Amino acid sequence: MARVVVVGAGVVGLTCAVRLLEEGHRVDLLARDLPLESTSAVAAALWYPYLSLPRERVLNWGAASYAEFVALAGEPETGVRMVTGTEVHRSRTPDPWWRDAVPSLDRETALPEGYRDGWTFVTPVVEMPLYLRWLLGRVDALGGTLTRMNLSALPTGADLVVNCSGLGARLLGQDRTVVPVRGQVLLVEQVGLDRWYLDGEVPTYVVPRSRDIVVGGTEQAGEWSRTPDPATAADILARARRLVPELAGARVLRHKVGLRPVRPALRVERVDYVVHCYGHGGAGVTLSWGTAEEVVSLVG
Ligand SMILES: Cc1cc2nc3c(=O)[nH]c(=O)nc-3n(C[C@H](O)[C@H](O)[C@H](O)COP(=O)(O)OP(=O)(O)OC[C@H]3O[C@@H](n4cnc5c(N)ncnc54)[C@H](O)[C@@H]3O)c2cc1C
Repeated sequence: MARVVVVGAGVVGLTCAVRLLEEGHRVDLLARDLPLESTSAVAAALWYPYLSLPRERVLNWGAASYAEFVALAGEPETGVRMVTGTEVHRSRTPDPWWRDAVPSLDRETALPEGYRDGWTFVTPVVEMPLYLRWLLGRVDALGGTLTRMNLSALPTGADLVVNCSGLGARLLGQDRTVVPVRGQVLLVEQVGLDRWYLDGEVPTYVVPRSRDIVVGGTEQAGEWSRTPDPATAADILARARRLVPELAGARVLRHKVGLRPVRPALRVERVDYVVHCYGHGGAGVTLSWGTAEEVVSLVG
């Protein structure tokens, strides 16, 4: 069994660490940001393939992760729930390219005003603050460690390094093809909503969790600011209220921003003693178990 250093403690690094530990490897995580400080903590987080390529591999990674989340939804402490919701479109739209990754998808006829098409399906909703804590608990229980460290290069000295540094791969993988796509969200109070809604065009999404509702969003390529913009927040809220009128009186609790690590093609590849696993774009949660499985096979 190998001594593996995993760089990064977002959803990708933690999931890889869990799977490697389950295979019997020794695993130590190094990360500048702890799990609840990472981009992953900002995610909505709906299982949904978004801003991530290439499609054939994303389909396989997504399907594998969906199956794992179905199993985790049986354990309330994970923060994973299977939730029904609707994706809406303003014009007639063919089935999505990832159709085969979900067990069923039904055309929706009861659409909000202004929409002409849509589909309803059951998908995992992952409450990230709970889930990241649960993943970290798994790492700990399996004998892994996490140390805060701001690295200027990938470490040497271990048998293998797994690079799950997300946007940090611009430096650690010397990879300028990973770019930020800024996402701003609001957390509003739970007003009894139990379905999610998504209009991918703008994008606008409303994702209910146990104690709040995540309302988004934006897709701003090349934008590095992590400061919430008040005008953007007002625009998001107005869009979300048009989509889901029940939000009309919901109090705003918090504003958050995350920088999605988008790459022309998600990188899962072994180069010598380094296994790279980064560039999950807007689907890091959605693909996490699938890419971790591939990392396990590359570690060998
Ligand atoms: C608003 C928003 C909504 C989203 N919604 C969804 C959704 O509904 N579903 C979904 O699947 N995905 C969603 N995403 C995308 C998802 O959040 C990302 O794909 C995911 O977080 C990427 O995970 P990661 O572990 O690769 O990166 P990160 O979470 O960014 O973690 C990277 C880790 O690497 C570490 N690191 C980086 N550089 C260094 C360094 N030099 N030294 C040491 N450590 C370093 C960081 O500190 C961190 O620990 C959303 C994102 C945003 C912003």
